[in-house]
Amino acid sequence: PPALVRRAEQHDTKAIQALDSAHYLHPFTSHGDLAGVGARVITRADNIYVWDSEGAKILDAMSGLWCVNAGYGRKELADAAYQQMMTLPFYNSFFNTTNVPAVQLAAKLASLAPVVGGRKFEHVFFSSSGSESNDTNVRMVRRYWDLLGQPQRKVIISRHNAYHGSTMAGASLGGMSGMHAQGDLPIPNITHIEQPHHWDNALPGESHADFGRRAAGWLEEKILEVGPEKVAAFIAEPVQGAGGVIIPPETYWPEIQRIVDQYGILLISDEVICAFGRLGHWFAYQKFGYRPDLITFAKGVTSGYIPLGGVMVGDRVAKVLIEQGGEFNHGYTYSGHPVACAVALANLELMEREDLPGRVKNDIGPYLAERFAELSDHPLVGAAETCGFVAGLVLVKDKGTREMFDPALSVGMICRGHCFRSGLIMRAVGDRMIIAPPLVMTREQIDEMMGLIVKCLDATLDDLRNAGEL
Ligand code: PMP
Repeated sequence: PPALVRRAEQHDTKAIQALDSAHYLHPFTSHGDLAGVGARVITRADNIYVWDSEGAKILDAMSGLWCVNAGYGRKELADAAYQQMMTLPFYNSFFNTTNVPAVQLAAKLASLAPVVGGRKFEHVFFSSSGSESNDTNVRMVRRYWDLLGQPQRKVIISRHNAYHGSTMAGASLGGMSGMHAQGDLPIPNITHIEQPHHWDNALPGESHADFGRRAAGWLEEKILEVGPEKVAAFIAEPVQGAGGVIIPPETYWPEIQRIVDQYGILLISDEVICAFGRLGHWFAYQKFGYRPDLITFAKGVTSGYIPLGGVMVGDRVAKVLIEQGGEFNHGYTYSGHPVACAVALANLELMEREDLPGRVKNDIGPYLAERFAELSDHPLVGAAETCGFVAGLVLVKDKGTREMFDPALSVGMICRGHCFRSGLIMRAVGDRMIIAPPLVMTREQIDEMMGLIVKCLDATLDDLRNAGEL
């Protein structure tokens, strides 16, 4: 109703919440529960902070949804969108046409992806999101093997607790049981192995190095179980994000590389979170030294200012698709959207000028690691780890025995509640608390964030003591 809309524009929180609950179906949300509490209304943002409709200032330690790498309020990104909208707001890349920003962005991305082991990334396929890009991957790897006369190679191996998106293929590639339980997933020919999560899956006393090699070995076991001649690809996040910032041991990726090479299967690096400076490099495979054939990207490519995703296609696949492929019957209306590409170009230029990957690698990343390590002394924290500019800590009942809290207590959610109320956005994945702050954060802002984190951990500890749980 117009009256409510008018009131909503004046940030009448209750009115916006009523409209929200009447009309807006949110992603990954229990609407019954949301209606009871009312959605938090975010109205504006600047640098690393967002403000809600009640005027509260909140430090966004999640960069929105792992995407606002360049921070909020970057005028040059808005200007790039405005200029491009006035010049050419849309044109498609079907029917032998192209547009200048899409061409420039493809070339720019190719120049940022370093050659490893003789493998180059000279081609890019554009979409509008990470999920769509992984759908593209499924179609592309199966097409690749068809063209090579091996159509039986259809199986894609992924990992439990992986996140690769929410479309039919994305959610199938992902290893989230809650998602598989809805909508008959996974789709056929997608299978999962266990994740390289030392905390959950290591044997008592097993070192990180030994565990990393053993966890990679699960890929080889699965390949042999499926039959090597049927396996098309292995897909993985360099560091699992939505699964709870699971950082693999250093021995994991080299062993994965050995296995995919031995069986000739394609390697897909899903860098939707980890690329564009997040781990201190333009692309995350640089950090771990492996050689993917395909790289999924989205989020940070535009710092989230406008939707854009895609797949960096390495020479091995591109050569076959281009030289033998004929028409690839796949693409999206918004593949190579000129405005999205113009914003991405401006964003990458900004990141280059401010050397955001370098800052993460040499300055704020190491500083975050140093400050985060101090959290290990807190009575509730079983482990605290960082990798570049992602970090996670696990809340435990007993540090000595590593006993976890009863999941029914939802300790992670208690802590998240304290964060919100204290002006900090931190995410809870079960009892793991995770962050992925904007890459423009200063050391002083890291100190400010750490102060808030400790305050919220203390408040959670008090709650648990008062409830007799400790
Ligand atoms: N892959 C990874 C690794 C992700 O983290 C995400 C989103 N969090 C996706 C894919 C899906 O991206 P989108 O939500 O843009 O579809």
